[in-house]
Amino acid sequence: MFNLTGKTALITGGSKGIGLAMAEALGKQGANIVITGRGEDALSAAKEQLGFSGIRAEAVQSDVTDRISIESAVAHAVEQFGSLDILVNNAGMNIRKPLVEVEEEDWDRVVDTNLKGIFLAGQAAARQMIRQKRGKIINISSIYGLVGGPNQTSYAASKGGINQLTRVWAEELAPHGIHVNAIAPGYIQTPMTASFLEDKERTQKLIGHTMLGRLGELKDLAGPVVLLASDASNYITGQIISVDGGWSAR
Ligand code: NDP
Repeated sequence: MFNLTGKTALITGGSKGIGLAMAEALGKQGANIVITGRGEDALSAAKEQLGFSGIRAEAVQSDVTDRISIESAVAHAVEQFGSLDILVNNAGMNIRKPLVEVEEEDWDRVVDTNLKGIFLAGQAAARQMIRQKRGKIINISSIYGLVGGPNQTSYAASKGGINQLTRVWAEELAPHGIHVNAIAPGYIQTPMTASFLEDKERTQKLIGHTMLGRLGELKDLAGPVVLLASDASNYITGQIISVDGGWSAR
């Protein structure tokens, strides 16, 4: 049920953090993997890491905010492996600032990466998946798409937008055999959150708010992404699955 042999997964922002962990989880279930990112060195290192785990992986330098670039990555996946079955729409970033300090440029960078990027990659993948009459799209949202939080103006707006795109696409693409869901992680230690989580007092507060009494780890996302990518989720679509230790439920 969880076997992904013969399937191809494209993971945007798969060179680090959550994207790389998800690429590894899907690859270990047998999927061919294509990871994208902007930085060449990180991509090469990630490809090597996946190779050590016996995973067939391609790395494509691609910026999700650039239509041509993301369309080329989708085309590369199809050329190399013959299909595109799974899109993990993961590339993202955050600039934390109070509302009154957010520069227009901060807003544009965050919303372009997190929301326009998801749209462009989702559209390019959906066009291929419609031709195939099957596919699984997994958008990576956040607790801040579901609950409020200080200093998250552009990030929370982009993640709330992702949740709505997930519902809209699920309905639109269901007749084509395509499932669309989102994963909304809580705090996970990655390059994106490393400096934020260095503040021990703040981290203790975050842990205190989490029902399960700890922050998330990359391995906590492996099961949910495999579930949503595999036949085990064939009656699940349009859902935002929180993977946050209970954070958003209180
Ligand atoms: P990281 O910063 O560790 O990794 C981000 C990845 O995205 C990198 O591979 C980066 O590569 C890539 N990326 C960034 N911008 C672009 C772009 N314009 N085009 C293509 N690739 C890009 O972040 P995380 O792993 O922590 O986060 C991954 C996703 O998970 C994000 O959507 C984030 O919002 C979400 N998330 C993270 C949480 C956490 O606690 N870590 C919690 C909830 C959600 P490069 O810079 O080389 O392009």
